[in-house]
Amino acid sequence: MVRDADGYQPNSLAGPLAVLQRHSGGAAPARMFVLSAPSGTGKDAVLAGLRRRNVGLHIAVACTTRQPRLNEVNGVDYHFVGREEFAEIRGSGEFLEDAVYAGHGYGTRLGPVREALSASRDVLLKIEVQGAATVRLKVPSVVLIFLAPASLEDLRERLECAAVERGVADPEDIERRLGEARRELACMPGYDYLVVNHMNRLEDTVRQIEAIILSERTRIGAVPIRV
Ligand code: 5GP
Repeated sequence: MVRDADGYQPNSLAGPLAVLQRHSGGAAPARMFVLSAPSGTGKDAVLAGLRRRNVGLHIAVACTTRQPRLNEVNGVDYHFVGREEFAEIRGSGEFLEDAVYAGHGYGTRLGPVREALSASRDVLLKIEVQGAATVRLKVPSVVLIFLAPASLEDLRERLECAAVERGVADPEDIERRLGEARRELACMPGYDYLVVNHMNRLEDTVRQIEAIILSERTRIGAVPIRV
């Protein structure tokens, strides 16, 4: 048997030591996470919770052709772009993924995602199910997290409360969103994790997602993501 000066069998520890070095040296490859949730499930509140807990993620700001809502800030909530600009970005291959949702274009620009990954920052994309499927094809190691309401009745209640808060009562809009939610829930089996956002238990939800992120960071064998 061949041994080195310390008596170790060369090669037998080489792989594990290299992994240990990467993990303890802080140079483990950055991870990519997707968070999808039917409209009204509370995704933005969960993301605000993750920011408060300093989970240390780059949360991608998407481009959309829809109009800004009250309190939404261009460049913070979304990059609000016209349809022509969206088509140009798409045509020049600058989107990692894009999708049409409720008649509007949504897309994640590649540049900021690449920058974050090369600075060893984990990236989180809050995107709907078609976008998630595209990302899984391009980045097989992406971790897909599905955030769901406890039931469709629970979601209806959330949507009705939100409509009252906004001062708009539009039963058709609520039915449309519930229909969309059914379609999105059908995609859940393709995800890696399911987190249920129970009413009035936001902090539990945030902690569960944080736990997923932290355990994925300790996973052995992650390879650098190239997009
Ligand atoms: P909203 O218009 O309500 O902000 O978002 C509508 C849906 O589009 C949500 O499910 C949201 O997660 C998704 N979405 C937001 N940005 C993107 C994106 O860049 N790509 C994709 N595929 N979906 C997105």
